[in-house]
Amino acid sequence: MKNYDLIIIGAGASGLFAAGHASSKGLKVLLIEKMNRVGIKLSITGKGRCNICNTASQDEFYKHVGKNYRFLKYTFSKFYNNELLEYFANIGIKTVVERGGRVFPESQKATDVVNSLKKNILKNKGEISYLNPVKNFILKDGEIVGIEAKLGKYYGENFLLCTGGKSYPLTGSTGDGYIFAKTLGHKIIPPIPALNAIEIEGNLPKKLQGLSLKNVSISVWINNKKKKDYFGEMIFTHFGISGPIVLTISKEFSHEIYSKENMYFLLDLKPALDDKTLDKRLLREFESSGKKKVKSILKSLLPSKMINVVLAEIGLDAEKPGNQINSSERKSLKKWLKGIKLSLKSARPISEAIITSGGISLKDVVSTQMKSKLYDNLFFAGEILDLDADTGGYNLQIAFSTAFVAVESILENKKSN
Ligand SMILES: Cc1cc2nc3c(=O)[nH]c(=O)nc-3n(C[C@H](O)[C@H](O)[C@H](O)COP(=O)(O)OP(=O)(O)OC[C@H]3O[C@@H](n4cnc5c(N)ncnc54)[C@H](O)[C@@H]3O)c2cc1C
Repeated sequence: MKNYDLIIIGAGASGLFAAGHASSKGLKVLLIEKMNRVGIKLSITGKGRCNICNTASQDEFYKHVGKNYRFLKYTFSKFYNNELLEYFANIGIKTVVERGGRVFPESQKATDVVNSLKKNILKNKGEISYLNPVKNFILKDGEIVGIEAKLGKYYGENFLLCTGGKSYPLTGSTGDGYIFAKTLGHKIIPPIPALNAIEIEGNLPKKLQGLSLKNVSISVWINNKKKKDYFGEMIFTHFGISGPIVLTISKEFSHEIYSKENMYFLLDLKPALDDKTLDKRLLREFESSGKKKVKSILKSLLPSKMINVVLAEIGLDAEKPGNQINSSERKSLKKWLKGIKLSLKSARPISEAIITSGGISLKDVVSTQMKSKLYDNLFFAGEILDLDADTGGYNLQIAFSTAFVAVESILENKKSN
């Protein structure tokens, strides 16, 4: 007995989008959600404002995705940011573009995005079932025919698995889909945290907790070899470091961080000044300020929260007059300003990560259909796939676009049957 054309498991970004799109095309859709409301993670995205997507070109987008970006090429050729914005405009979400091409709803409310997506499903007679965690798939003669959930069994023609990753489990994304997919024979690339803060050895971060720095650079070192430089903003926390460049590092080096490789970061507080220029500047500052204390002189060079910490770290008396600072003290100060060593302790837990890296192996998915290579009527969309990208609206674009392609191929299947 096939009651539904499409059963969608998980009412997050991709599930909500897919349910609306499929039901608007006349499919009989059931969207099953384990929480008491839909889109809980979506409603906290972009600090509650929902960074829906980015105006970047596709080539630029790919630079923000890891090694798996090629998998998205077909998907984006069918449904990219312009199509997404048009879609949202049609369901009543006006958008604005902000710094870095980030697109937000004009209302600045992520909940408006969730509500519009939900309204669109209900308007098109899609069904939503709440507080109904799916437990497993029902198979008959090797074919998927239904699912078993807390509130009952449901039968359908097609199944779209949209249960997301493992981060922020209180939103409902607890990685259930990985287990379903694995049980059905798909390979799962081990899920690890990405876009996450980083724990650092020692108590320096704690001393500088809350200090946020702009225009600094961080270089990543593994086994004493420099890997890459990052420039931008960061913040010290009680356990380590966070902020935009740290999140990017945590994504690009997620495996190395997770496996606790021999890794450290050098924080350069003065990336615009090379060693020589900085030395000259320090010399000038110290010589010209006579008896002024070093702690006061440094106010023009460092945030005040950092001054006493720096001086204590290099063992320089904060009360010492500027004109008595000798060249070796100046060198220690310069060395510190250009390279604060922060040794990796560990990744923060996946529960705190913005995104999960890993998931259903793309080798098991037809990239032009988002269809399983093992079952003809099983589809995937969103973060459950082994795809992850930087912050900036890229991850939601992946969720919406993969959902679109999955639904389109289900429609195609239906036509040809
Ligand atoms: C704090 C935070 C901020 C973010 N901000 C942004 C941003 O501004 N822009 C951006 O692009 N990305 C952002 N992201 C990432 C983005 O939210 C995710 O990539 C996106 O939500 C993934 O969508 P999804 O549909 O795959 O999964 P999810 O949105 O995680 O949805 C999965 C759904 O499946 C349900 N589910 C799970 N298991 C079951 C089950 N067994 N039965 C039934 N239902 C189940 C869950 O309850 C959940 O509703 C942010 C993430 C976080 C954590």
